[in-house]
Amino acid sequence: MADAKKVLEIIKKMSKDIEDNKDFLTELDNIIADGDHGINMARGFAAVEEVLPGLEDKDIATILKQVGMKLLSTVGGASGPLYGTAFMKAGAAAAGKDDVNMDDFFVMLDAAIDGVQKRGKAVVGEKTMIDSMIPARDAMKESYAADQDAKKAFEAGIKAAEDGIEYTKTIIATKGRASYIGERSIGHQDPGATSFTIMLKDIAEFV
Ligand code: ADP
Ligand code: MG
Repeated sequence: MADAKKVLEIIKKMSKDIEDNKDFLTELDNIIADGDHGINMARGFAAVEEVLPGLEDKDIATILKQVGMKLLSTVGGASGPLYGTAFMKAGAAAAGKDDVNMDDFFVMLDAAIDGVQKRGKAVVGEKTMIDSMIPARDAMKESYAADQDAKKAFEAGIKAAEDGIEYTKTIIATKGRASYIGERSIGHQDPGATSFTIMLKDIAEFV
């Protein structure tokens, strides 16, 4: 599915798409919280871009761990430690692998989600990135188990992540800054679920 070179390409594409969606993500965050999610994420990926040249000859685990550490130290906000942890845990789960297949990817995704949940304590239904992450992961696993088709599995995962975004519109935030406005968060999608879906689409493009 992906070697270190491909992983670097995926990271670059994520960086571009986060930058392109900076205003959109910030606007979403502005409606229900403090309006900095796009700014935070774009700052983080700009810092990641600076370290990418030094990662050209590194293995997948090292690349993802370095990306995670950069995100953790530069994104700020709630999302920085959460996405930083996700990339670092995914990297640790890929230790020793020069190429990851779908089964490896699922182990990495499990580790990433587990890291986000250990850190953020959110479960499905609290209007966070978790509302796209968990349904996407589950849908991908189910699809892949049924017909061993990576492309199809990613399509199912993206659909579930997008449904997760729609679902966040229907619920009140009980984690993060959006929880401060209570019922007024209803009707608006979660910025973190949106940024996760953007990044999942980027991974899918390279599979
Ligand atoms: P902050 O909320 O500190 O301003 P950001 O705006 O960058 O940070 O990120 C907000 C996003 O972080 C939310 O849209 C939500 O998806 C995610 N988030 C916040 N708290 C949690 C949590 N405890 N668990 C999972 N995701 C969270
Ligand atoms: Mg914010």
